[in-house]
Amino acid sequence: MRYRLVVLALAAVAAWVLPYGLSLYAIHVVDVAIVFAILAIGMGLVMGIAGQINLAQVAFFGVGAYMTAVLTTHVGMGFWTAAVLSVIGTAVVGLLVGTPALRMQSHYLGIVTLGLAVAFVSWATNSPLAGGASGISGIPAPTLFGLDLSSEYLFYYFELIVFACALAFGMFIVRMPLGRRMRAMRDDALAAGAVGAEVRSLRMAAFALASVYGGLAGVLYAGLIRYVAPETFSIANMFLLLAMVIIGGRHSLVGCVVGALGLSLLREALVDVSTYAQLAYGAVVALTVVFAPNGLAGLPGRVRSAWGRRRPDKAAVLGDFQPYEPASPDVVGGPDRDDWILDVRGVGKRFRGLIALQDVSFQVRAGEIRGIVGPNGSGKTTLFNVISGLYKPSSGQVIFAGKPATGRPPHQLAHAGMARTFQNLRLFHLMSVRENVLVGLDRSRIRSIWRYLLWPIGVFRDDREMHRAGDELLARFGLVDFAPAAPRSLPYGTQRRVEIARAMAGRPRLLLLDEPAAGLNGEEVRQLGEIVRSIRASGVTVIIIEHNMGLVMSMCERITVLASGSVIAEGTPAEVSRTPEVIEAYLGDAEVNDNFSAEDELPPATVLDATP
Ligand code: ADP
Ligand code: MG
Repeated sequence: MRYRLVVLALAAVAAWVLPYGLSLYAIHVVDVAIVFAILAIGMGLVMGIAGQINLAQVAFFGVGAYMTAVLTTHVGMGFWTAAVLSVIGTAVVGLLVGTPALRMQSHYLGIVTLGLAVAFVSWATNSPLAGGASGISGIPAPTLFGLDLSSEYLFYYFELIVFACALAFGMFIVRMPLGRRMRAMRDDALAAGAVGAEVRSLRMAAFALASVYGGLAGVLYAGLIRYVAPETFSIANMFLLLAMVIIGGRHSLVGCVVGALGLSLLREALVDVSTYAQLAYGAVVALTVVFAPNGLAGLPGRVRSAWGRRRPDKAAVLGDFQPYEPASPDVVGGPDRDDWILDVRGVGKRFRGLIALQDVSFQVRAGEIRGIVGPNGSGKTTLFNVISGLYKPSSGQVIFAGKPATGRPPHQLAHAGMARTFQNLRLFHLMSVRENVLVGLDRSRIRSIWRYLLWPIGVFRDDREMHRAGDELLARFGLVDFAPAAPRSLPYGTQRRVEIARAMAGRPRLLLLDEPAAGLNGEEVRQLGEIVRSIRASGVTVIIIEHNMGLVMSMCERITVLASGSVIAEGTPAEVSRTPEVIEAYLGDAEVNDNFSAEDELPPATVLDATP
């Protein structure tokens, strides 16, 4: 912390004295570089943090600059009024550009946003309002507190303050719950939705943020150059910006800034050989993508981990699970209760020709542990996907806690008290274990996003409270030693436990576990049984898909058996194991049948299905 403050203070002093040593031309280059740095922060937020491909950032830049130009020269507004309107206007454009992101992702989104960037240049080149190819000149120089900012030295200081605020605000967002949810969405949009992140709204928010930074950069550019023309907002500059962000490191806003400043200065140095320079940028970008995906910003971490590999931290151990406080008996009902927390009514799901689920009906009582078993491909995961809102059923409906759940998006169901894990682990892999859990804890909504601008201290306090709760949860699941680790660096069993901790972070009423014992060793399976029992004792209903019959038989009150997308049996473990259809469809072989009826005495690691 102290180290950071020193670096910050040194940077501030250096920035303050910089103009004293610079010629008029050099300060102009620096001023333009800062404009690009602000533009790059916006790009970093939308691409690096929120994971949305955005090739329209130069168009946002252009909208901000052209709007300022038009409002000051054609309409005759003062510079500052025009500036405020331009930033707002750009934000509106950003929201419009963000709408395709609701429907499409990755390269499709790239193509659409690139199209918008091209469309903007063509508008600017052809529209009489925009002055055609010759652009708009005569933008008045802004004055501030009586200072005439037409001096590029003074403009530098003005820009510096705007830049510092823009960077600080960006970094604040990245570190606070909003940025965390955006990063979760970037790593795994599906899992983010399942823990309550409003994925669509977050995408829009990311584009809006990027466009505000673009608009701000545009306004500064118009005030600095006092002339706008189409070529500044060309596709070539879009790729330059992309190179800045990728080379600097898109996951880090400071990296984006370093990339922007560095490449701006480099471009100036290579202005005589600009054609070759373009090629060189392309080559460096390609090399960066392959060899240093996190760009310059990722290098310190690489050096540190290379160093750490030589002295591995063996001290980290998975701690014991500390059981939840048992809830009072009227909360934990179990099989005798007659209130349903989940009511699945005649659900069917087809994928083109394939019928994955057919007329599936069952009810789960509040406080029960329900097992769902069935051969691979029988539709168990599909059933969970329908229940948790990932898939819309082709027919039938799901009632969760007395309210229809069909058609509601996953994040709404998560907020209503449903949580799940995934058969093939879906952790947010670029985030630490602690952050994974924090995303699960996060119950903030996009509608209170205004607080980031108007009440940041409230956001900060909420975040601290989340950290406190997160630490408690990590301690409960014995994950304290792994809190700062990247999920992929952990043993498989530990990752599974992190996923359960993340699901439990949202204090759900219903927990869906999809093959949680797959890949675990005997001791880990025993611990899993303990965790699930404790979760149920705390008042949470659990539905568990599992191939490990020992675990299912010893833990579940009732078991639902699926085969080829239909329920073929349901009942207590003893009842189910006696059903002829089950024996035929699922077990089929005499040796295993013995195990299946043996109930509680079974060793926990008896696995029926060899392919987890
Ligand atoms: P289980 O979890 O019981 O092993 P699944 O629910 O994963 O089974 O799959 C049931 C059937 O549905 C399988 O035949 C699978 O190939 C098919 N299926 C599942 N998801 C999809 C999907 N998104 N698109 C097409 N087919 C799918
Ligand atoms: Mg499955």
